[in-house]
Amino acid sequence: MDNITAIFKEKKLKLTPQRIAVYMYLRSTKEHPSAETIYKALHKDYPTMSLATVYKALKTLVEVNLVKELNVGEGNFRYDGNVTPHPHIQCMSCGKVDDIEGLSFDDLNDKIRNYTDYEIISNRVYFYGICTACNKEK
Ligand SMILES: [Zn+2]
Ligand SMILES: [Zn+2]
Repeated sequence: MDNITAIFKEKKLKLTPQRIAVYMYLRSTKEHPSAETIYKALHKDYPTMSLATVYKALKTLVEVNLVKELNVGEGNFRYDGNVTPHPHIQCMSCGKVDDIEGLSFDDLNDKIRNYTDYEIISNRVYFYGICTACNKEK
């Protein structure tokens, strides 16, 4: 586990129990949960923490780049505790989001310079498909 105190200090973030809980939860899962899922998962240990508090903690963590916000369309957001660049794939049937490991699109930023005058800052590549569990159900 990372030294969360040092990380928060470096980002000049106050170590509130809510922020720590949300961050620790995201670091512990690869499920890319939504705010609601995080809220439900933490409710047992933090019964006084509201969904609004979870949203606020997430917003702060995204701002300091400790957490990545994934826009999975239709105003739905998922959260990722892994901020190293990696592509994602979403199941169009059950909505789960998985990492695609061992593949990076970092060089895409360089390639795209041949096609636009824009200064390229970043890119976001999502893949969509049907996961193995959903495929079996068919
Ligand atoms: Zn699925
Ligand atoms: Zn991810």
